[in-house]
Amino acid sequence: MQNHQHVSADRFLIRGINQSVLLNLIRTEAPISRPQLATLSGLSLVTVIKITATLLERNLIVEKEYAESTGGRRAGLLEINPQGGFVVGLIPQPESLTAVILDLSSEPVYTRQWDIPLQGDYPRALELLVQCCEELFQESQIARDKFIGVGFGMSGMIDGDRGLCIDAALLGWKNVEISRPLEERIGIPVFVDNDVNCLAVYENLFGEGQPYDHFLVIAIGRGVGLGIVTNGDLYRGAFGGAGELGHTAVTTEGRLCDCGNRGCLETYVSFSGILENYREYVQITTYNLANTPSEPSLLEIVTQARRGEEAARAAMQRAGTLLGVSLANLVNIFNPQCIILSSPDLNLLTDSVLMEAMQQEIKQHLFSQMGKDLRFFIAEQLGYESWARGAGSLVLRHFFGSPARIRSERSSIQA
Ligand SMILES: [Zn+2]
Repeated sequence: MQNHQHVSADRFLIRGINQSVLLNLIRTEAPISRPQLATLSGLSLVTVIKITATLLERNLIVEKEYAESTGGRRAGLLEINPQGGFVVGLIPQPESLTAVILDLSSEPVYTRQWDIPLQGDYPRALELLVQCCEELFQESQIARDKFIGVGFGMSGMIDGDRGLCIDAALLGWKNVEISRPLEERIGIPVFVDNDVNCLAVYENLFGEGQPYDHFLVIAIGRGVGLGIVTNGDLYRGAFGGAGELGHTAVTTEGRLCDCGNRGCLETYVSFSGILENYREYVQITTYNLANTPSEPSLLEIVTQARRGEEAARAAMQRAGTLLGVSLANLVNIFNPQCIILSSPDLNLLTDSVLMEAMQQEIKQHLFSQMGKDLRFFIAEQLGYESWARGAGSLVLRHFFGSPARIRSERSSIQA
């Protein structure tokens, strides 16, 4: 039955892939029997028995209840053992590092934050990262061999396949290796990706995106990020650059962006973009500069806009309108089933003027039936902890195998 396309891969890899296929089936279909696993995976019962024996031995799965199988024999049912393995998710910021340890069901079991300078000097940052990982392993009191990987999520252009950071403006790192030097130092596999891609992976495996094969994750904060899931798997582009929604142009002239271009979406929709919308509106409408109100915070703008204060309303509407046009363009290109909105400041997404303007604009620009059954979700947020959870789920994606990878496995087995 193992007559699939990976004949050139060595036996170890094939077993690895089959193992991921079975682990993912056990994760999504549990409790599940070995014969059911064989049917769903297309693997022979002998192979299933062999692999599940290894997984049981390694405590990655447990055999729990017994149930009558169709043949009248009692069959053991298998489940993932959440405590059978752990992953680490890391989110570096210019002045801090957030870490979370997740069990195999993506539940956070330990969280830690350090105030450390990670910006600029990468070799020094690497030393600090290694120290923090060691501290984390110690404090968690989890045996080192229980960790199956570390996921590293960062803003910027990241080549996840090669474990490289191509350009992270926020941290000031350019063309540096992340995975290999960290792996060598801590002795555990390290996966790296863009932080919004990490969120999309989390939503795909464990969040609102689970029932969908085609969805978009939009993150509004310091910038505007996009994670694309299509055919059940993350779409990353040729070298990981896909999803730079914040730097798509919404006007040919326009504000100067940090990236050096003009008219980028995030100069109007990010937190600082919304403040700039407000500033601009006040400048245009206030003739007597002495009457210019002092600069409000984002929360104040959101609240004032809701109350109907003119400048705040205009600032939020402008952001919502431009975001709405951009989302309509994305929907017309990708035809997603749902859009998951995420922001460190949830006030922006719940019952706000921005959301109303956005929804209205989307409706106006959708092609034909594209908006039919399109659903919107707002992702639950725990600050950087939820970003770190996303980074951890990068490892779980490799461990369990993505649903899409399993589908292609199945179709090649059937072919
Ligand atoms: Zn830009």
